[in-house]
Order: sequence, then structure tokens, then C-alpha cells
Amino acid sequence: MDEGLKNLVDRIECGDMSSYDDIPRLLACEDTDTAQYLFERADAVKRARFGDEILTRAIVEFSNHCRCLCAYCGISACNEGIARYRMTREEILASAREALDQGYHTVILQSGEDLFYTKEMIGGIVRDIKAMGREYPFPVAVTLSVGERDYETYRYWRQCGADRYLIKHETSDEALYNRYHPHSSLEKRLQCQKWLYELGYELGGGFMVGLPGQTYETLKNDILLLKTMKVSMAGIGPYISHHATPLAGSPHGSPELTRRVLAVARLILPQVHLPSTTALNLKGGKEAALSGGANVVMNKVTPLKYRALYDLYEP
Ligand code: SAH
Repeated sequence: MDEGLKNLVDRIECGDMSSYDDIPRLLACEDTDTAQYLFERADAVKRARFGDEILTRAIVEFSNHCRCLCAYCGISACNEGIARYRMTREEILASAREALDQGYHTVILQSGEDLFYTKEMIGGIVRDIKAMGREYPFPVAVTLSVGERDYETYRYWRQCGADRYLIKHETSDEALYNRYHPHSSLEKRLQCQKWLYELGYELGGGFMVGLPGQTYETLKNDILLLKTMKVSMAGIGPYISHHATPLAGSPHGSPELTRRVLAVARLILPQVHLPSTTALNLKGGKEAALSGGANVVMNKVTPLKYRALYDLYEP
């Protein structure tokens, strides 16, 4: 084992901020023993905080309509080749009911940025799920993940009972962010995260691993940005290339690198919930993630007839 890198893992775990500059070296290292040591420490830190418990979350992907132009995403507005769907309020509530009946305590409502669902519609659905939750013998949380809206809308949804909000920063490299999101900016994205935090949501952030143009340095900054933004949860998943996007043909992000990034994130953010994301599950990385620092699994409960159409990335 590379003793220098092993020592680096220990310093990161101890919160020695002067060690953070060397994170890229750890992410890039070819020594599998060192990587194994990193996973073991991440697992120990996770167990010290959360024990053996793996939390599960149900995701309802209720619309694949989107106004955004994210260059990596299969449901972006520029993809004219897919069938679009919108679930009705009744369908969304039925999926939430099914998730609660199966024992899930958290329902995540996710969609493209679809303004068909007004502030009032989403607020009403949140209120209905929270009311439904009172029929169950456990507290039910509602997470929203519907992209960028204004402060007033976020405030209203919080008043309606939304507990958490998932909005990833995607990449901390500003030039890369702005290139891949011509409709928005990193500044705007982070503004949304700040508002949500101020409004008392448990903030979910996150980013992709292996996005074309990203470096190990970017990944270090991605992890540190989660800390700056005070996230309670971070979805860190591999980039998966999709044929109907401007980034078609680019290589997929590596599940192994994703696992390392997750493990380093666990050392730096011991108290943060780290899911094995749906993208990582798809790449067979779930078990490895859970033994290397992740403590949450996200499962789709979207009705089967819509599931294949929520095609952000390809299987
Ligand atoms: N519209 C919402 C939800 C986004 S979709 C929002 O803007 O927050 C959920 C997540 O899927 C994104 O945050 C992104 O990280 C991920 N995603 C999209 N395309 C992807 C791809 N090609 N590979 C991996 N993850 C992808």
C-alpha cells in the first residue's frame, strides 16, 4: 500500500483541511490497496454515524417534460425523439400511496422543469401526501426535485409541508456548468440552493462523476462545494452518456471512480445522507457504494408504463 496515500486518507478523515489539496491524487491513484483502505474507512465512518441501517427512498418521476437544455440529459427540451408524459394528480397520489404501503417513509417527487405544474398544483399535491402520511404509524417526508423556481414558490411549497428539496449543482466548474446548461448558470443554481436552505428545507445537492471535461480537481471542488452549501444529502452518480444529446458518444463515468468520490465525500461529510443514486444502481454499483460510505438507496416507484420514458440516461 502507498503509505503516503494511506496517511492522506487518515488526515482527510480527521478533518485536516490542508489534506484536501491532495484529494485529486487519491481519486486518480492506481493502487487498489489504497482504494480498499479508503472504502473501509468510509464504511467505518458511516457505521459510526448511522449504524447498519440503510435508508430507502421512493422516487415518483411524474413528468418528463422539460424546458431546460442540459447537454447530458435525455429528456432535455431539445430531444424531439421521445414521447412525453405527465402524471395526473390522482396518479401521483396513487404512486405515493403505494410507496407508503410498501413501507417507504420518504416520497421524492421528481420531474423535468415542467411549468405545466403550477406552484399551486405542486403545493396541493405536497399537502395531500403529507395528509395521507398521517394515516401511517411513521413520519412521512416529502422531497421535491423539480428544478429552478423562484423564492416565493419555494417558500409556498415549504408552507405546504415539503420537507426536503433535491437540486444538484451538477458540476462546480463554472465554465463547464455554463457550457452544459445554456439556459441557466451555476450562480443561479447555487442561489436556489441558498434559498432552499434559508427556507428550512433539508437541502439535497450533488453532482455527476465523469462528465466530459471534468478533472479530478473539479471533483475535489464538487465535494467541498457540498460542504459550503450545507447540504443534508448529496446524490453523487456516474455520468451516463445518452445518444440523443449533444454529448452523445462520450464515455460513461466510471462506477469505480464514483465509489471513490462517494467514499471521500463520506470522510469529509460524516453526517450527510449519501444515496446510491439510480444512475449508479443501473451500472451495478449499488452494493459497492453501500460498503464504501453510502447509506441510502433510491428506488423508482414510477408506474411501469411511464418508467422507460423518464429516460435521462440510457440503461
Ligand atoms: N429537473 C430537476 C431534476 C433533474 S433530473 C432538476 O433540475 O434538478 C435528476 C438528475 O439526473 C440530475 O440532477 C442529474 O444529475 C441526473 N442526470 C441527468 N442526466 C444524466 C446523465 N446523462 N447521466 C447521469 N445523470 C444524469
